[in-house]
Amino acid sequence: MTSTSGLTDRFGRVATDLRVSLTDRCNLRCGYCMPEEGLAWMPREQQLSDDEVVRLVRVAVELLGVTQVRFTGGEPLIRRGLVGIVDRIARLRPRPALSLTTNGIGLDRLAAALRGAGLDRVNVSLDTLRPDRFHTLTRRDRHADVLRGLSAAAAAGLTPVKINAVLIRGVNDDEAPALLDFALRHGYQLRFIEQMPLDAQHGWRRLDMVTAEEITASLVSYGLVPDQNRRGAAPAEIWLVPGHVDAAGEPARLGLIASVTQPFCGACDRTRLTADGQIRSCLFASQESDLRSLLRNGATDQEIAAAWRAAMRGKPAGHGIDDPSFRQPDRPMSAIGG
Ligand code: SAM
Ligand code: SF4
Repeated sequence: MTSTSGLTDRFGRVATDLRVSLTDRCNLRCGYCMPEEGLAWMPREQQLSDDEVVRLVRVAVELLGVTQVRFTGGEPLIRRGLVGIVDRIARLRPRPALSLTTNGIGLDRLAAALRGAGLDRVNVSLDTLRPDRFHTLTRRDRHADVLRGLSAAAAAGLTPVKINAVLIRGVNDDEAPALLDFALRHGYQLRFIEQMPLDAQHGWRRLDMVTAEEITASLVSYGLVPDQNRRGAAPAEIWLVPGHVDAAGEPARLGLIASVTQPFCGACDRTRLTADGQIRSCLFASQESDLRSLLRNGATDQEIAAAWRAAMRGKPAGHGIDDPSFRQPDRPMSAIGG
């Protein structure tokens, strides 16, 4: 494949990592993502069918050089056709690496089937070890379901199991050490993500955000050592936790995703497909490109690939959160696919 046939943008970045949102719906209501009453969900007919999702991912893999596919949402486990979609995408060649970001609810029932279908790994979101705080953060009493989901993922071999955690000031900002201890005990890899302005309510305030620097300061007793070999295009800054190993016997690692305070836009290798078939070149993009209409109007694979390439050429240099002209995208995180 020549570089012009892949998803290259004006700044020379090449997108090989595709995030596919399978639904905008969710069974939790995390305050940094959704309002308590939920959102007006996407009408079913606007959502891509299973066949349409598989076709677009096939175009991305076969014609556009995508090598990694992550399923997300909303909550991807509530998409009925999920196991079948994973199974069909795992059969594509070259076979992409397949992962899933989930809140973990229902993973106890689905983990083995997902592994069997070809899913390689999962990230489970868990911000707290305390059920009362879980309710404050998500407005639902499902903490035990998430813990069951985590165990099932590990048992099914969806490893390394990663935990995504967002710390919210005044709620769970004292929990970094407890979450790290929990992850170390179970052989999970913990990653803290700085809270980004992507909530539907537009309530994000920079001063309230718990920064990656504050998190590392609260973990000073662990003697974290930067893992020089593991940054690459991945957004997480990786730290080794001396004296600990993960479930595979590898040195234990901690990830810090400082999306706001230390943006990694210059090395970004992502492209995003929303549940209604729009391409977003960036989480914070103000523009989308409509592949669903193309698809439903009979476009060929080559025409879809060309539209996808054109969409990525418009990828902004950076998210610009620090720019006075920054405008939060209209779509919230749950409808873009986190
Ligand atoms: N529902 C699934 C979940 O929670 O893992 C997948 C979708 S969710 C949008 C993906 C990830 O985005 C989760 O780890 C969640 O914590 C994170 N997230 C959501 N809103 C965020 C925000 N405003 N800032 C930072 N991370 C956020
Ligand atoms: Fe749902 Fe994930 Fe958003 Fe929480 S972060 S409301 S689990 S989509």
